[in-house]
Amino acid sequence: MAKLLDKQRYKCALGAMQTVQAIDRALPILHSGPGCAQKLSESIGSSGYFSPNIFPCTSINEKDVVFGGVKKLNSTIENALKVVDADLYVVLTGCIPEIVGDDSGEVVSRFADADKPVIYAPTAGFKGNNYKGHEQIVDAIVDQYLKKTDKKQKGLVNIWADVPYQDLFWLGNIRELEKLIKELGLTPNTIFGFKRGIDNINKIPEAEFNLLVSPWLGLSNMKKMERKLGIPYLHYPTLPIGATETSKFLRTVGEFAGVDKEKVEAVIKEHEDYYYYLIERYADLFLENRVINKQFTVIADAQYSLGITKFLANDLGLVPAKQFVVDDTPKAYRDQITEEFKKLNFGLEAEVSFETDGYKIHQEIKQHDYNGYPLILGGYYEKEVTEKLKGNFLNISWPVQDKVVFDDFYVGYTGGIRLIEDIYTIAVQRFN
Ligand code: SF4
Repeated sequence: MAKLLDKQRYKCALGAMQTVQAIDRALPILHSGPGCAQKLSESIGSSGYFSPNIFPCTSINEKDVVFGGVKKLNSTIENALKVVDADLYVVLTGCIPEIVGDDSGEVVSRFADADKPVIYAPTAGFKGNNYKGHEQIVDAIVDQYLKKTDKKQKGLVNIWADVPYQDLFWLGNIRELEKLIKELGLTPNTIFGFKRGIDNINKIPEAEFNLLVSPWLGLSNMKKMERKLGIPYLHYPTLPIGATETSKFLRTVGEFAGVDKEKVEAVIKEHEDYYYYLIERYADLFLENRVINKQFTVIADAQYSLGITKFLANDLGLVPAKQFVVDDTPKAYRDQITEEFKKLNFGLEAEVSFETDGYKIHQEIKQHDYNGYPLILGGYYEKEVTEKLKGNFLNISWPVQDKVVFDDFYVGYTGGIRLIEDIYTIAVQRFN
């Protein structure tokens, strides 16, 4: 019997058009029905030089379903190359052309000699969600554009993290990771956001290693790049938020990259000194609010659910209730992520549920005894249930309707402080 999924937290794979959009001057060309882009676009920081409203689209209809849409795809690519000034053109296929069997790869191959690179990614909605679609885009760049090279740049590190736009803090987070890596004396290379784009894509094969900061997303891309481009990778499974995890992160990266230990410790010390100076100044506020929020729950993708759980337990000494991972994490990764939730300070372990059904998540939240008011960090869907429980709510994951983020971030020492500010700004309002 068909199952109903309540309050889904992701989009279909074609939603990865946002991954392409996050690459400066990269243009998605959609081979899909006319409604797909409209349905998948959001108005949260996605206007600009290219926006979903102007993405070239084949807008395939009933006739194309019968006779095939390859002719239309050919002319759409041809015209996009003529009239839209981009550095990289990425064809994304939706459900209809893949169901009727259009050979989009063959059409794209006709543009191998075009002045600008044209690649394609199969992103039909029935193949998975936009997390999967994001991986398909990176795979397409690796398979169809990049070439292996013996030329290596000493200290160059490609950094990969979460899905742009799906992750509200994607831009600020990746910039902060860059800064931290730079402080170790390494040279970060990322492809998303302002002034990155094609030049940085071209540098990928020259890196000494890939750094993946994510519980699971992107791991298959790392393996592919190791195989095809000979780039080794370091997989750091936790988004480092706050001092405990960020110091661990810097030590791990430093060791992998062969950075002098003293240098790593000096970077850590400078950050930790300031971090704990700030924490000390507000220690009384934390103590007061521990009585109010004894336990917390995070409802987010694996990246935030794990990263924030570790931060709140390790740095703030809060007690985790059940945590929810809502990104439909592939089964192969779940055991390993579950183990990560057990690696908390003070002998704490967090129980985690991989659950995509919002109704079930809310039932569990309602039934749990938080020993007081709960602290809930999740999508906007959790606002109402938290209010009913008289808890404190912070909208940190998709869907987001409670917050506008330009380039704010939760990563690193500074990101941990930002998250504390956001949580306690809400907590103190209780006293007003
Ligand atoms: S599920 Fe298919 S038809 Fe629906 S938006 Fe995604 S690609 Fe388009």
